[in-house]
Amino acid sequence: MRLRIGRRHPKDDRPEPPAGTPGLAVELRGVRRQYGRGAGAVHALAGVDLALARGTFTAVMGPSGSGKSTFLQCAAGLDRPTSGSVCLGGTEITGMKEDELTELRRSRLGFVFQAFNLLPSLTVEQNVLLPMRLAGQRRDRHLAGDVLARVGLADKARRRPGELSGGQQQRVAVARALVTGPDVVFADEPTGALDTTTAAEILGLLRHAVDTLGATVVMVTHDPAAAAWADRVLFLADGSFADSLERAGAERIAARMAALAARTSPAGAMAGAAA
Ligand code: ADP
Repeated sequence: MRLRIGRRHPKDDRPEPPAGTPGLAVELRGVRRQYGRGAGAVHALAGVDLALARGTFTAVMGPSGSGKSTFLQCAAGLDRPTSGSVCLGGTEITGMKEDELTELRRSRLGFVFQAFNLLPSLTVEQNVLLPMRLAGQRRDRHLAGDVLARVGLADKARRRPGELSGGQQQRVAVARALVTGPDVVFADEPTGALDTTTAAEILGLLRHAVDTLGATVVMVTHDPAAAAWADRVLFLADGSFADSLERAGAERIAARMAALAARTSPAGAMAGAAA
């Protein structure tokens, strides 16, 4: 079942932008992101091609500075690539005006951050319904109740975030990310601030959303145990996808990360040269 969703506003008569490939939630073609120019230019993304089907859970890993944040920002329409194109839910976002991008992010994307990013003065229910409020959609308290029940917080709707534990706050953030039935949920180190048990609960919720709601999740993480919940792990190195693993356990993922770090870090390169 998919949660009920309000996609485009009924009064929105702007023509649909050109469509991407059907069935793909995320499609990046030749995405480059360069900082600075000339000799000092940094190629944070050096030509990324990626196609993620709907209903999949993908983890993105890579050494520090490999381009994970830049990838997430470009894929989620928070930053503009220097060149290349990004399609989300079949809609080309490259070249969209800032207000169109903002609207798309509010109505068609979900976000879960390491620091929860809930508004402390709002109740749990108001936080969950915030994306709909910002998108000018009707706030549906039944829908909020449904989503809160899914994350095990049916009895906390009237509480404020400050009254909840970290794990419970992240559950609220997951509910908020799912409430619009988004094309993609982008998660940036969603378990970075949580203990192992609580982290597993949050990852279980994301996994469940993929398996039962057909949600699509793209998660950046440095934690192999978190990445093991994904269908596929993509490894970034120097701004490109250098490797991937399907349905792998934490140990295999950790070993692959260590190999990648040894190949890409200056220390690793020196060790390689000395060998
Ligand atoms: P990661 O998230 O994997 O640590 P980032 O995407 O943050 O990697 O960074 C990729 C590369 O781009 C790094 O070399 C970083 O120093 C550089 N970079 C990121 N943001 C900026 C910026 N605003 N200005 C200049 N260089 C940047």
